[in-house]
Amino acid sequence: MSVWSYLGVKETLWQLKSNEKGLSNLEVEKRKEKYGYNELIEAKKDHFFKKIIQQFTNYLILILIIAMIVSFIAGHIIDAVVIGVIVFLNGILGFVQEYKAEQTMAALKKLSPPTAIVMRNGKEMKIDARELVPGDIVMLEAGDNIPADCRLISAIQLKVDESSLTGESVPVSKSINQIKGTVSIGEMKNILFMSTNITYGTAKAVVVETGMNTQLGKIASMIQENEKQTPLQKRLEHFGKEIGILVLLISAIIALIGIIQGKPVIDMFIIGVSIAVAAVPEGLPAVVTITLALGLQRMAKKNAIIRKLPAVETLGSTTIICSDKTGTITKNEMTVTEIYSDKKLIQVNEKEHSKKGNFCYNEKSIDIKKSKNISMILKIGLLCNNAVIEDGELIGDPTEGALVTLAEKGGFGRETTRHEFKKITELPFDSNRKMMTTIHMIDSDDIKSDYESYTKGATEMVLAKCKYIYKNGKVVKITKKEILEIKEQEKEMASRALRVLAFAYKNISKQKEYTFKTEENMIFVGLIGMIDPPREEVKYAINKCKTAGIRVMMITGDYEITAKAIAEKVGLFKEGDKILTGTNLEQMNEAQLKEAVNSINIFARISPEHKMKIVKALKEQGHIVAVTGDGVNDAPALKKADIGIAMGITGTDVSKQASDMILTDDNFSTIVIAIEEGRTIFENIKKFIQYLLSCNAGEVLTMLVASAIGFATLPLVPVQILWMNLVTDGLPAITLGLDPSEKNIMKRKPIKDRRALDKKTAFKIIGIGSLMCIITLFVFYSELNSNPEIAGTMAFTTLMMLQMGIIFNIKTEQSIFKGGNLINNKFLIGSVLLSIALQILVIYHPLMQIFFQTTALPLIKLLEIFIIAFLVFLGIEIVKIKYPTM
Ligand code: ATP
Repeated sequence: MSVWSYLGVKETLWQLKSNEKGLSNLEVEKRKEKYGYNELIEAKKDHFFKKIIQQFTNYLILILIIAMIVSFIAGHIIDAVVIGVIVFLNGILGFVQEYKAEQTMAALKKLSPPTAIVMRNGKEMKIDARELVPGDIVMLEAGDNIPADCRLISAIQLKVDESSLTGESVPVSKSINQIKGTVSIGEMKNILFMSTNITYGTAKAVVVETGMNTQLGKIASMIQENEKQTPLQKRLEHFGKEIGILVLLISAIIALIGIIQGKPVIDMFIIGVSIAVAAVPEGLPAVVTITLALGLQRMAKKNAIIRKLPAVETLGSTTIICSDKTGTITKNEMTVTEIYSDKKLIQVNEKEHSKKGNFCYNEKSIDIKKSKNISMILKIGLLCNNAVIEDGELIGDPTEGALVTLAEKGGFGRETTRHEFKKITELPFDSNRKMMTTIHMIDSDDIKSDYESYTKGATEMVLAKCKYIYKNGKVVKITKKEILEIKEQEKEMASRALRVLAFAYKNISKQKEYTFKTEENMIFVGLIGMIDPPREEVKYAINKCKTAGIRVMMITGDYEITAKAIAEKVGLFKEGDKILTGTNLEQMNEAQLKEAVNSINIFARISPEHKMKIVKALKEQGHIVAVTGDGVNDAPALKKADIGIAMGITGTDVSKQASDMILTDDNFSTIVIAIEEGRTIFENIKKFIQYLLSCNAGEVLTMLVASAIGFATLPLVPVQILWMNLVTDGLPAITLGLDPSEKNIMKRKPIKDRRALDKKTAFKIIGIGSLMCIITLFVFYSELNSNPEIAGTMAFTTLMMLQMGIIFNIKTEQSIFKGGNLINNKFLIGSVLLSIALQILVIYHPLMQIFFQTTALPLIKLLEIFIIAFLVFLGIEIVKIKYPTM
């Protein structure tokens, strides 16, 4: 690597057999074959067999294997075989679950690949960063994540955050100068390193190393990202261990009671082990992971990509969404419709079948070539601009794209104009200054200097720096009256929801370096107004938030009146509501700000620092805040928020890296859809935890109470318990995780208690478990007196069937008598039917009868069980009419 910093730009390009126009497609293909993809190869994953073996090293499974060996030695061959098969099936199921979860997570990672803007065949294009090859010319700007190691060709005010590589927290300035002697990575000012971030300025660079050959590649194995567990997963793991100890204790008591009663020690040992294995919810974390992973997949299909797993849980609890305006609430399809200059308001209309536009003054077409003011605005708009429109596709900022289109409508060719007025340097846009300036060499006779600066930006910012005004070719001092008139005009345009930008220029002399001083004493030229209509679906989404107890706040860098006009259109603002501006906010102390954020929903002229303050004030009051952002400066607010949301289309790489979720369509409505999914996933996890634990409680209590009462025979034999564990734990519970959203999910308040297992749920679990125990023991006891030979099978089938009914009770919060939908989850219905079919097989198939110690039940008895299970189901549904959450 170090050799590249010694070389000059020309030498580097020569060595790489490249040039500033970029490589040809053929050359790219050749190099791809030679160098491979520009990606870091992941560290080796665990081996397939190692993973399968891991499934059998769980301590409970080990106990079960011991039980199997003990049974075998004691001569209980059938028991040993059945336990063996169950251990095997359990292991396979665990493996499949884990494998599926891993695959889904891996697929999700690939959904939002990093991109890069390259010059190939003399044209700028956006490609996947993994397609880069050495010799490619890349164009970079503030907010970009550097896609490979590159040597700078040109750099304007370039600053790079290299902390991920060097630990240096302050961004370093970069320049194209050659470096002599051996220097450390931190001192290679002319090299950009993969995965570091541009915080300011723009650059053009040639890729020198890709993939594993980059500096990052060399240390890649050191920075493998650890998968984070969600708080819920952590709590469940902890909970699993606690309940494990409790269950082991109960199993030991049951076994001990049996031994005291004189039952064979080995039998009682196996019973104890089976209960322990059946009742410990060791599969919970895996099922939670699958549910989360599948939920993430569903969200990704709906344009929300979750980058950090814990965000899924937080989403359901979101109480406030702070959204940008431009592009999130509006379409970001900017079109210039008005130009104001030299006291005239010009309308810009489309011309049918033509790229040229129709410019009208007082409803009459005008020839803009005759208006020096309009021509000047169009020229500034085109030159103070980094957007490119190639084959109808915009690369760059939509605001700037609209200005390129405007210039084309006025007959300015993008290429020719930009070629004629060569850009020397740029004072880049940033959302604190709210403006940008470019410096150009000019080739004109009627102007004395050889250089001009062109500026565009927020009206008040630009106007504050203008001393002169341009009037049809003449430059005169701007008067206070004129400034007031311009401000009035801006207000009027903004009140019609137009996004307004101001334009200015200045003649300057050649300088070594251009500072912000260049932006002083400028010549004001005029304003333009562009429409950016709100997205149609946003109004509906905002309404949905209202019913779901979520407050929506609009935090925008745009002008107060534009913000108000758009907010009114989407239902965020009504007469009498207040708007807070960045200037007001700066004058407030912490307490005042806290109060303000509680009642005000629209914040205008806000800088990223203000945004950060707002988020902080909200969080301090206990709100769960989701915040959107796109710029490089938005990263701190995104990190501070409970859920940082980055824009997939217009967002910078830096904002994406700081985020928990990315919207691939930049759309506000997608946030609301994601919250709905988040709530659903959380509810589903809660449901299957409740179901799984209720079933386990039912099984343990049945055995505990039966042995405490002192029955001569216990209702269930070990293999039956293990079987139930596999059938009930394994299949139907997983399918609960796939339940569609309940109809009223967005009519409930945000989820407050994120423990998934609160006191109320624990109480329900004990209640349902006790109910199952009482009914099973009742059936068992009454059969034991009349038909002892079928009592065990009756108890076994009753418990199993009760579980099949109860899963539907747990499935919906609403009773079926109140519109609860029981049949909208085909996986659940399928798995319940399969479980019932398997149970019937276990009862009636002669071979299974031997394995599971069952007896064929008379049909009337089977019917009896079905009726009991159905009545219990119905009873609970009736209770749910009054207590929907049961
Ligand atoms: P939001 O914060 O809702 O996305 P925004 O795009 O208006 O809205 P910023 O990007 O912070 O917010 O821009 C602030 C202001 O800076 C804009 O209102 C506009 O006046 C000005 N501005 C935006 N983009 C540019 C640009 N490319 N060049 C010059 N000025 C710009």
